[in-house]
Amino acid sequence: MNLIFVGPPGAGKGTIAAKIAAELSIPHISTGDIFRQNIREQTELGKKVKQILDSGELVPDELTIDLVSDRLSHSDAQAGWILDGFPRTETQAEALDEFARVDEVVFFRIDDEEVVKRLGGRRVHPASGRTYHIEFDPPKEPGFDDETGEPLIRREDDEPDAIRHRLEVYRKETAPVVDYYQRDGRLVEVDAAQPIEGVFEDLRAIVEEVQNR
Ligand code: ADP
Ligand code: AMP
Repeated sequence: MNLIFVGPPGAGKGTIAAKIAAELSIPHISTGDIFRQNIREQTELGKKVKQILDSGELVPDELTIDLVSDRLSHSDAQAGWILDGFPRTETQAEALDEFARVDEVVFFRIDDEEVVKRLGGRRVHPASGRTYHIEFDPPKEPGFDDETGEPLIRREDDEPDAIRHRLEVYRKETAPVVDYYQRDGRLVEVDAAQPIEGVFEDLRAIVEEVQNR
């Protein structure tokens, strides 16, 4: 099953994608996670994109499209995948249609005020991408990853200025992606403002519907 999660930063796409991917035993492919891993490992790609990520701008389409096209060709992605954070521009959406089949696109609807609360309290375990929230989804021990016990960090782009900028970029560049999929009937919407369990249950129902087609 090939699923896309789209919506503003902080809507909870990554949180839910990790859970659904684990249930379906398919990879959760987050372009943001891939870029951050490259930054941590100081690869050529990482050096190229660090400034862009820190400021909340988008990485150029060509580079991002090549990265995803390559990732989807790996053997673990042949039985399905969840794409989280891609496509983020209409150009990326058109390109994806050239090299992959998309079964369903899930739009995470949420307002800016809630997004700001979520991103302000987000903490991540850099090596795994595991995500917590200091209030809404806290780790067992504050500041440390549940599985490894390693410290959690706050993302550079979760600072207030970068959050504001990312919401602007979302409206300008990514909102048209939602329209793109809506036009041809591939879009389904979830109320992403619910608690995590509620969003997860809605996603399970969507997955079941796609499986029964
Ligand atoms: P995205 O991948 O869409 O940017 P995340 O999954 O990283 O968003 O979630 C952003 C923050 O909000 C994280 O700190 C996460 O723990 C928290 N979060 C995710 N889903 C919910 C939810 N339904 N209710 C409350 N907090 C949530
Ligand atoms: P995310 O983890 O999805 O919030 O993404 C973090 C950052 O990675 C974004 O603000 C962009 O700088 C970059 N990024 C992630 N996905 C894409 C994409 N599909 N196109 C361009 N830039 C992206």
